Amino acid sequence: RVKEKGRAHYQFYCTDMNSVITNVVTLETHLRKAIEKNELVLYYQPQINCENGEAKCFEALLRWKDHEFGHISPDVFIPLAEDTGMIISIGNWVIESVCKQIKTWYEKGIDDIRIAINISPKQMNQPNLVPFIQLMIEKYNINPSSLEIEITEGVMHDTREVAPILFKLKQLGIYISVDDFGTGFSSLNYLKRFPIDGLKIDQSFIKEILSDEKDAAITTTIIHLGKSLGLEVIAEGVEEKEQVTFLRNAGCHKIQGYYFSKPIPVDELEKMFLCSSQM
Ligand code: C2E
Ligand code: CA
Ligand code: CA
Ligand code: CA
Repeated sequence: RVKEKGRAHYQFYCTDMNSVITNVVTLETHLRKAIEKNELVLYYQPQINCENGEAKCFEALLRWKDHEFGHISPDVFIPLAEDTGMIISIGNWVIESVCKQIKTWYEKGIDDIRIAINISPKQMNQPNLVPFIQLMIEKYNINPSSLEIEITEGVMHDTREVAPILFKLKQLGIYISVDDFGTGFSSLNYLKRFPIDGLKIDQSFIKEILSDEKDAAITTTIIHLGKSLGLEVIAEGVEEKEQVTFLRNAGCHKIQGYYFSKPIPVDELEKMFLCSSQM
């Protein structure tokens, strides 16, 4: 959907206007304004524990509705933000907002939750990341174990740069998972050298898990690999009951996908997933 034509030239498809817009400088300007005016929003998607059906972990996902263009997918504006460097301020905003939200939930008596934050490669390579996370943990007085970061395999290539960052985050008590696992053309070497806690099987494998033997084999193997390394394995993009059954039988720990819930705003999340007796 996103077509890159060199820096600052994107084509994006816009659901509300039902038209293709090719002017990216405009989009960039709009995104900058959206950040300034605090118009980005976080939605949360539950991750269901296969053993007990509980939802204690949630992934934070950015949503942006532009006044003119309508809803713009993060698959469009995150790459743009990466290219223009805006990802640093967006990323910091996400970290702070999540910490603030966790504090609010603590105040309502909900304290056994964990929120996963997507960290883009550019953010990982930025020296301020760990100090900033530490600062937010202190500012909102939250338990680091309420935080999870999701990184992609690509960032593991920069071993020397990334290792100390991951070890510092781990030392703080933050949960570290590998997003889109299996799609990064990456050596598995990092799994034994880095303090990884969990693997997220990419949704491209889950999609045809019931009809494609290879997808089924890859998924089962990732689950076994994770288990034998003592890692938690989660499947994402799960939309059907039969996929849930398959994954549960294969020993997958957690499941995330439209079958249980789409990413939803805070008020809905509180109503549907955060036990009312606690609030
Ligand atoms: P991701 O991290 O791989 O997130 C999973 C994407 O799959 C999300 O798309 C989610 O809404 C979608 N999804 C979840 N369950 C299902 C399902 O059952 N079926 C299908 N077809 N899709 C499902 P979304 O929210 O549009 O985000 C797209 C990507 O944008 C994310 O992929 C992530 O790479 C990036 N992104 C989103 N929020 C952030 C953020 O706060 N920071 C950074 N750096 N990237 C973000
Ligand atoms: Ca993710
Ligand atoms: Ca993913
Ligand atoms: Ca993705």
